[in-house]
Amino acid sequence: MTDLHRLSIRELSQGLTNAEFSSRELTEHYLKRIGKIDAQVQSFITVAEEQAIAQANAADALLKSGGAGALTGIPVAHKDIFCTNGIKTTAGSKMLDNFISPYDATVVAKGKAAGLVTLGKVNMDEFAMGSTSESSYFGATRNPWALDRVPGGSSGGSAAAVAADLAPFATGTDTGGSIRQPASFCGLTGLKPTYGRVSRFGMIAYASSLDQGGPMARSAEDCAYLMNVMAGHDAKDSTSVQKEADDYVANLNGTAVKGLRIGIPKQYFNVQGLDADVKARVEESLKKLEDMGATLVEIDLNMTDAYVPTYYLIAPAEASSNLQRYDGVRYGYRAENPTDILDLYKRSRSEGFGAEVQRRILIGTYALSAGYYDAYYVKAQKVRRLIQQDFLKAFENVDVIAAPSAPTTAYKIGANLSPTEMYLGDIYTLAVNLAGLPAINAPVGFDADNLPVGLQLIGNYWSESQLLSVVHQYQQATDWHTKRAAIAEENA
Ligand code: GLN
Repeated sequence: MTDLHRLSIRELSQGLTNAEFSSRELTEHYLKRIGKIDAQVQSFITVAEEQAIAQANAADALLKSGGAGALTGIPVAHKDIFCTNGIKTTAGSKMLDNFISPYDATVVAKGKAAGLVTLGKVNMDEFAMGSTSESSYFGATRNPWALDRVPGGSSGGSAAAVAADLAPFATGTDTGGSIRQPASFCGLTGLKPTYGRVSRFGMIAYASSLDQGGPMARSAEDCAYLMNVMAGHDAKDSTSVQKEADDYVANLNGTAVKGLRIGIPKQYFNVQGLDADVKARVEESLKKLEDMGATLVEIDLNMTDAYVPTYYLIAPAEASSNLQRYDGVRYGYRAENPTDILDLYKRSRSEGFGAEVQRRILIGTYALSAGYYDAYYVKAQKVRRLIQQDFLKAFENVDVIAAPSAPTTAYKIGANLSPTEMYLGDIYTLAVNLAGLPAINAPVGFDADNLPVGLQLIGNYWSESQLLSVVHQYQQATDWHTKRAAIAEENA
C-alpha cells in the first residue's frame, strides 16, 4: 500500500478494524515517509521509532483480540511541549535539550489509553513563544507549501508534519493562536478548545491562564476524533473543568449551517496589514456559508485595539513566573563551572534561554514588579475582562464570530520581523485566549502565491461540537481541505 497517508482518520479506523492493513504497516509507512521527506520539512525533533513499533504491535494484538477502540493503532505526532515518559521533551529549548520526563502528560496518557501510536515529538517555537517556529533551538521548520516559508507557530512542527502527510493528525497548544495560525499557514483544520476543556497536566507551561491544548488535522472530522481523546476533566489539573466532554464525532452533523447567525466584526476587516487575498478568500467562504443557509450579521467588537497590548503584558507576566523554575539547579540546562550560586542562576538562564524567551521574561518581570504591578499587570487584567464582556455581548445576537486567523499568509523564513511586527500578526487570535473561548481554523483557499488562507470561527463557551460541525458541513460542500502540498504527494 503506497497511499495509506491519503486516508482520513475514519478510513484508517475502518481499514484497521477490517484488517485491510495492520497498525505495524501503517506505522512503518509513516516512519518511512518521515525518514525520506522530513529532511526537507524538519518538523520532527525526535522520531520515536522503537516505541512506535512496539505500540503498533500492541495495537495489532488488541485489534486481533477484539479489544480495540476507534483509534487503536492510528499514529499521532505530539507537540514537543507535552511530556512523554521515555522520550525527550524539549519545548524547543536548549534549556530542556536533554530532558526526559518521568511521566506522561494527561493528553499523552489518554492517547496511549486510546491506542494511539506516538510517532515522535514535533518542533515548536521555544516555550511556545512565537508565530513562526523559528525561535526553536532546533532550527526552523519549513512550510510544506513553500519550503522557504515559515509554517507558522508556535505549533509549526505539528502543522508541517500533518501538511506534509508525515502524521495523520497532531496535538498542538494555543496560548494566543498557536494552533489556529499554523493551521491557517499550512492549510489545516485546527481547534482551540474552551479554556479548561483539555487537561494542561504535563503540558509545559507558558502562560497558564491562556494555555490550551487541541487537535490539528486535515479536516474537522479528523479533529473531532482527536478531540474525543484529548478532552475531559482531569483531577491533576485544577483548571480543568468538571463537565463531561461531548462525543465530538457523534455530534458532527450536516445541518449546522442552516440558520446559523455569523457575526462579522466591523473592526476586523479594516485592520491595517490585512492582506487583500486573505480578505477576499475569507469573504468568499462567508458567502459560501451564506449560500448554505447562514445569516451574516455585522457586529461591533470595540476592544479590538486592546488585544495585542493586553496579551503581550499578561502572557509575558505569566511566563516570567512559570519560567522561574529553570534555574540550573533542579533540572534542565546548567552552566559549567559556576563561581557561586548567583553566577549559576544567571549563566544557566542566559545560556539556556533564547532571545525571545529572555525578552518576555524581562517584560513580564517588569510588569509584575512592585511599583509597576498596578499600572501594567492589574490594568491589563481589567482590560482583559472588558474584552471578554465584548464577546459575551456579541454572543447575545450571534452564534459564532468570523475572522481571518491571521492577516497574512505564510511569510519567508528569516523575514526577520521586529518583535512588534510579529506581535501585530496575532491580532485575530489573542482575544479568544484572553476570553477563554473556543475557536477553529478552516482552510478556505489560496493566495496568489498558492499559499493557504484560513477562516477562523469563534464560538461561545463549550461550543466545540458546533464549531466542528459547521466546518464539517462546509468541508462536505467544498474541497479546500483536500488540497495537498506538492511535497505531500511524494512517495516514500
Ligand atoms: N504568537 C503568540 C505568542 O508568541 C502565541 C503563541 C502561542 O499561542 N503559544 O505568544
